[in-house]
Amino acid sequence: MTDPDRTSCACLIHQRNQTGDPDVDVLVTWVNEGRWTMTGDDLRAWSCTVGQWHTFRSPEFVICGLSRGERRHILVKAVIAMEYGLPKLGEVDTQLTSLKVKTVRVHQSWYGSPLLRIPRAFYGGELPEYRQLIWAEGAEGFPGDEGFDAGLLERQPDLAIPLPDHPKCVWTALR
Ligand SMILES: [Zn+2]
Repeated sequence: MTDPDRTSCACLIHQRNQTGDPDVDVLVTWVNEGRWTMTGDDLRAWSCTVGQWHTFRSPEFVICGLSRGERRHILVKAVIAMEYGLPKLGEVDTQLTSLKVKTVRVHQSWYGSPLLRIPRAFYGGELPEYRQLIWAEGAEGFPGDEGFDAGLLERQPDLAIPLPDHPKCVWTALR
């Protein structure tokens, strides 16, 4: 579990450690080279930042759904905006990208999900705070909004909802 007052970093770089998993260990090189990087899964469509906590003691981001290019574009925008205290937690941001984006804190019950497997391994099992960027489906608005098309609900989870309480979907079924 993550201690909210934690200031230390248990990542592979700080621990001078390796896992033997190339998908994880390559992040050491990438974070050393670029201060932060991204990982994810294109089949199920998610991306997350790695290195924000290690380098800046800033929260990390995760985004689900969309194309790989769109996810990466939004993550880069969010990381740049962090310098100005944006995007604000719990608020809808209409300036960040052409999509409306709502920033929520990922509930810790998701920290064991395959979604965060690679970051978890990089951070030595002690994940820092992750924030999800939930994007609006154009005029449909956000999942959970009144009248939202149920057919679109599988496109992204709401990671602020505790995993046991989240509606069953492909995201809760990840193994
Ligand atoms: Zn570190």
